[in-house]
Amino acid sequence: MEDCIFCKIIKGEIPSTKVYEDEDMVIIKDIAPQAPIHLLLLPKQHFANIIEMTDEQAVLVARCIKKLSTMTHELGLDGGFRLISNKGKDACQSVEHLHIHILGGAQLADKMG
Ligand code: AMP
Repeated sequence: MEDCIFCKIIKGEIPSTKVYEDEDMVIIKDIAPQAPIHLLLLPKQHFANIIEMTDEQAVLVARCIKKLSTMTHELGLDGGFRLISNKGKDACQSVEHLHIHILGGAQLADKMG
């Protein structure tokens, strides 16, 4: 998508701090971290959210999460982590390219809402 900021980050047209990249996804540091470790998992395919996700894209996202599960130590997440994917206005989604927040590096709030 031409005007999607995350597509531009994936293509390297906008600078970011990439901590991982493969054929399926990139993982970057969030520009406005809300935890000591706040990363964003960005599938390289553009789709807005899980509602618009095809079956094939669901498999892609599952593969990305499975890969993430193998790199939590390297990412400093041995203490645990939280995955969040916001969808729509009530969840304050601000970028219409599916992404998964990875939060950790400290004891997180027990309330999520
Ligand atoms: P959401 O509100 O769930 O759509 O999350 C979007 C996230 O993208 C926010 O946490 C932003 O801080 C983050 N963000 C926006 N622009 C950038 C950028 N250029 N580089 C890294 N993170 C960004």
